[in-house]
This record gives sequence, C-alpha cells and structure tokens, in this order.
Amino acid sequence: DETIAKFDPELDAAIKAECQRQEDHIELIASENYVSHAVMEAQGSQLTNKYAEGYPGKRFYGGCEHVDVVEQLAIDRVKQLFGAEYANVQPHSGSQANQAVYFSILKPGDTVMGMNLGHGGHLTHGSPANLSGKMFNIVAYGLNENEEIDYDDMERVAMEKRPKLIIGGASAFALRFDFERMGQIAKKCGAYFMVDMAHYAGLVAAGVYPNPVPHADFVTSTTHKTLRGPRGGIILAKAEYEKSLNSSVFPTLQGGPLMHVIAAKAVAFKEALQPEFKDYQQQVLKNADAMAKRLTERGLRIVSGRTESHVFLVDLRGKGLTGKAADAALGKAHITVNKNSIPNDPESPFITSGIRIGSPAITTRGFKEAEAVLVADMIADVLDAPEDAAVLARVAAEATALCHRFPVYVKQG
Ligand code: PLP
Repeated sequence: DETIAKFDPELDAAIKAECQRQEDHIELIASENYVSHAVMEAQGSQLTNKYAEGYPGKRFYGGCEHVDVVEQLAIDRVKQLFGAEYANVQPHSGSQANQAVYFSILKPGDTVMGMNLGHGGHLTHGSPANLSGKMFNIVAYGLNENEEIDYDDMERVAMEKRPKLIIGGASAFALRFDFERMGQIAKKCGAYFMVDMAHYAGLVAAGVYPNPVPHADFVTSTTHKTLRGPRGGIILAKAEYEKSLNSSVFPTLQGGPLMHVIAAKAVAFKEALQPEFKDYQQQVLKNADAMAKRLTERGLRIVSGRTESHVFLVDLRGKGLTGKAADAALGKAHITVNKNSIPNDPESPFITSGIRIGSPAITTRGFKEAEAVLVADMIADVLDAPEDAAVLARVAAEATALCHRFPVYVKQG
C-alpha cells in the first residue's frame, strides 16, 4: 500500500498546503470549525467501503450487522443531545436534509415562508437559484428597522398568504430566534414549522441558544458548523413523521448512506454530550461578543448592533469598502472571512457591503477573549488601510504568530 505522498505527490502537496493554511491563518468563517482526530479517524475508516441502503435492522444489503450498531449509536446520541423523538442521520448535507423535509410534506407550487435571503436566510429556504425557489411559491419574512426579526409582520404575512410550511433559521443572523413565537404563528395559520438550526446546532446542544425541537415539527441541521462534526446533515422530528421522513431521505433523495461519515457523526455527538462541550460553546459566545464589541469601539457598525451567537455581520459602508475588497485584504493578512450581503445591501451578492465573522474555529484552537480582542484589532487595522502593503504584511506576521501559540493539530517548530 502506497501513501498519498509516494503515489500522488501533486495531490499530497495540495493537501499539505491546506493543512498548513489551517494552522497559520485565523479562521473566522462562521460555518467552519476544526474537528477532532477521533472524528477524522472515523471518516478515514474502512466504513467507507460498506453499502447499507435502508435503515438499521432493515437493510437491502448483507453484512450490515456492524454498521447497524454504528448508525443506531448516532441516532440514539443525537436524539438525547437535542431531546428529539426521531432522528435521521443519513442526509449527506444540510441541503439534502432540507430537501427531504420538503419532499415529505410539500407538492410543487405549494407556498413556503422563509427568511429573506438578503436578511440572512439560506439558499435552500427559497432562493430562485435553488430547487426550493424553483419548486415552491416563496414568501419571505425579514428584519425590522432595528435589524431584529419582525414577528408581527411575519404573523400578518403568514395569515394572508397561508404558507404550508414556515422555516426558521438562518446563515447570517446574529440574534436569538424566538422559536416558540414562530411555532405559534405556524399553528395559527395552519402551517408546518421547520427550523434549520445548522448554524446554531452546537450552541443549542450546549444549552446556550434556544432549542427549536420542542416547538417545531421538523428540525434540520448540518453537523459541521458549531456542532464540530463531519460535513453532513441530520433531521430531527416528532415521532409521527418517522415513516415519511425515512422514505424521503432513502429512496426518494439518496442511495447508500455514507457509513464512515455516520460513524464520525456518532463520535461528534458523543463529544457534544460531554461537559467540556458546554464550556466550549460558552467561550464561542464570549469570543464573538468580544470581537463585535472591539470592532464597534474601532468605529465599525455591527448589523443588529450586537451578537447573541457565534456570528455577526460587519457593515463596511462607513469605511467606503465593499465586502469583496475587505475579504481580499484580510486574506492577504492571513485572516479568513467571507464577504456577505447586509440587510438591504445596495451592492450585488458578488460584491456586498459586509463581511461575516464567526468564532467557532478560533475558539476550538483555544483563543479566549484576550485573543479575540487582538483579532478584532488586526481586522480593524486592515480595514483602516486595506491597500497598505506594510500593514497587511505586519498583520499577516502577527496573525500567524498568534496561531502558532495555539496549534490546531500540529505543534509548529
Ligand atoms: N442550512 C443553513 C442555515 C446553512 O447555513 C447551510 C450552509 O451553509 C446549509 C443549510 C447547507 O448545508 P450544506 O452545505 O451541508 O448543504
């Protein structure tokens, strides 16, 4: 057996360069994290070889006795973690988890209500570029003038348009959702209620963000963001939806489940059940808050004025900068963010007037509030002089030196 290094040096070089980038750069993409060695071990295991169409105890292939144990462990742990009656751990991604819910209850042309994409909603909640927007009649809710969710307006629109499904959850919204109120609105207008908690799942698991499970018919999530597991999706629901959701995932949408990824999900769920996970998520909140406050002191405007989660948006218009330019300048300074539309953004989604900043990855590598403030100062320095090569070089050196004090996987020599 040859190693990648011996068999495929070209590919090996790219993988090694990416590993080094993860060690050397300050990672602020809100949807990213660093998984444990145990999660990677499960994903690199021989379970990748196994076909297991069906569900534990009801497979279409032989030899599934051991992967049945694996999948049942993942199911039992995730149900315990979130207090759910039913769980499906097979969706290959967050997008497929959402599609599986849609196909289990909706028909083409049905009306669906989701968060305005320009206010922080996700593509799969009704973008015209996504299957959800192509198949369903989308109505949106959004933010009021304080950049908080306008629940009164949501209720008014829901009663008028009578959607069959209301979707909670977002990709770029810093505050807490009122899932209880959304559940009441859904009940009043006769809609199903689904929450896509992909961004908040780790915080929810640790009890530091509201849990949608008691209020929603369906809860979907990715497993790779704040939850710090492998890339993938899950669906949680009330027990009555078991049959329709199981058949919606397989065979409607997917074939064989990725058993190595399901094993890695099981590892991540066990990690999330440990007491240290609550400490981690509390620190995620503290670090996001510390960065938002310091950036405010440095003259930047935070959308919604604050954060109550792992994420926030910075409005760059006051600096005369676009999201695209800020993203590029910060990248040169070894700080990784993504450009992001802000509410009512005058720029296109390719340019934008904002950047999105998240604390999950820096918190995993051990940054506390003191380091979060240093990071915010580095960001502000770059945004004050995005074309000054000397500033970018100085910040890049500082960023990498800080990273080397907090190695992720490898001690730097
Ligand atoms: N739902 C939300 C709220 C997300 O932010 C994302 C990812 O960006 C997804 C779903 C999609 O997940 P995936 O990239 O696994 O399809």
